[in-house]
Amino acid sequence: MKIAFVGLGNMGGGMAANLVKAGHEVRAFDLSQEAIETARGNGCETFASARDAAEDCDAVVSMLPNGAIVRDVYTSDIIGQAPEGAVLLDCSTIDVATAKDVAQLAADAGYEMVDAPVSGGIAAANGGTLTFMVGGTDSAFKRAEPILQAMGKAVIHAGDAGAGQTAKICNNMLLAISMIGTAEAMKMAEKLGLDPQKFYEISSQSSGYCWSLNAYTPMPGVGVESPADNGYQGGFATALMLKDLRLAMEAAETADASTPLGAHAKELYEKFAEENGGMDFSGIIKSL
Ligand code: NAD
Repeated sequence: MKIAFVGLGNMGGGMAANLVKAGHEVRAFDLSQEAIETARGNGCETFASARDAAEDCDAVVSMLPNGAIVRDVYTSDIIGQAPEGAVLLDCSTIDVATAKDVAQLAADAGYEMVDAPVSGGIAAANGGTLTFMVGGTDSAFKRAEPILQAMGKAVIHAGDAGAGQTAKICNNMLLAISMIGTAEAMKMAEKLGLDPQKFYEISSQSSGYCWSLNAYTPMPGVGVESPADNGYQGGFATALMLKDLRLAMEAAETADASTPLGAHAKELYEKFAEENGGMDFSGIIKSL
């Protein structure tokens, strides 16, 4: 299949390379020359613009920084430029409203489109083990699924356009809240004189069981190996968690959903990100 790929950054670079490995002809574009050169080294054909990449393809995949850029790339260079019948897949994490709008603009021009944001970081993008949560019609999902499978370990149809983004921000809001809760409980146990490793052993097998504690323990030397054991480097950057929390709070307001803990988690991450945007998000324990 001929696949145009726009946005070859930390995530997109590895994803495009995995499409090549799966036997697809990848027509790549990024604003960064360095990203273009890496993509060429990984077997992609490279182009001078998104429009040129999209002009002859069966599908378009994008992995871009935010909703404004996604809207701009699709309205200027993809919709109306990609061949009739090409399926469009935006894998960026963006606001639900923009995802729905762009899908509608695509549909008005006769294209099927899905929003397919990912769970999993740079290692999962490189290793082809991302989880995709997908919003779009049944027919768009069926067409997108085999393309996404070449880049991930799980591809889940969440619902109509925008449902992928909704799943992503609700999941990450829950993750932020549970990470702060885990960090608070571990620090409090320690301050009360309980050995944190004992607390981990007990709570990870009790009702405090959760992914933040069991699979991503935020205290160095306690529980499972995690970014905490590596100076909070690698993993999922605080700045990206904050981006997702902002998107979640925007969406909550639009939907009139009550999210007091989500709002508080956003405030705490905002403060923590002032000096620690590049640190793994579990580093928030250091602020307690
Ligand atoms: P990145 O900044 O490394 O990559 C984005 C790429 O898009 C850059 O190479 C940039 O040059 C390119 N770009 C920007 N504007 C462009 C345009 N108009 N045309 C073509 N290329 C353009 O970011 P990333 O870490 O790869 O993240 C990409 C998306 O994935 C984001 O929406 C992010 O929230 C999401 N995400 C990232 C992670 C992660 O761990 N990094 C995890 C899950 C989801």
